Amino acid sequence: MSKGLLIVLSGPSGVGKGTIYARLLKELSNLSVSISATTRKPRAGEEHGVHYYFVSREEFIAMRDEGKFLEWAVTVGNCYGTPSAPVFEKLNNGIDVLLEIDVKGAKQVKEAYPDCKTIFVLPPSKEELAKRLMGRGTETKEQVKARLELANSELMESEIFDYRVVNDNIDVAVNEVIDIIKQNKGE
Ligand code: 5GP
Repeated sequence: MSKGLLIVLSGPSGVGKGTIYARLLKELSNLSVSISATTRKPRAGEEHGVHYYFVSREEFIAMRDEGKFLEWAVTVGNCYGTPSAPVFEKLNNGIDVLLEIDVKGAKQVKEAYPDCKTIFVLPPSKEELAKRLMGRGTETKEQVKARLELANSELMESEIFDYRVVNDNIDVAVNEVIDIIKQNKGE
């Protein structure tokens, strides 16, 4: 049996990664999720063990020190990490795994597992990104400002990714990502 493909989807907060991620999971039958651990508080409708493992800072640090993360990063004030064991178990069983993580995390995954394919999702413009982040209504003004500042530095790093996809029209962006995945699987 051939190994699964590890796909890393990254890009600034508010760019629509979450929507692309959800659509890919619906459309690709061999694709599986990785549930990250985070110290961020759950948003309305988010469930522990489904969207994230919501953990305390102490629990997060313990997991990190035990080497349980494939990658981890502090982004916009909270810690986020990908538990490695479930990822490798799936890959070894021929299942493709999609990670939706920030740029710092994506770099770590590429270093630890060069066979992965990294995809950076770009907004059509910085103005559109700001509009989307504000319209989402899930962050305070300060949090939106911090996320936009981070977005500016992340956009400058898009060149180090294997692929770049502009999310102007969601259907077009999803299809582009599906093509990239299929191409890398030789389909
Ligand atoms: P949010 O708080 O909006 O759910 O996520 C904030 C940022 O953290 C997003 O850019 C998201 O991709 C990133 N993120 C989510 N899970 C992980 C993870 O496990 N590792 C890293 N490095 N970033 C993550």
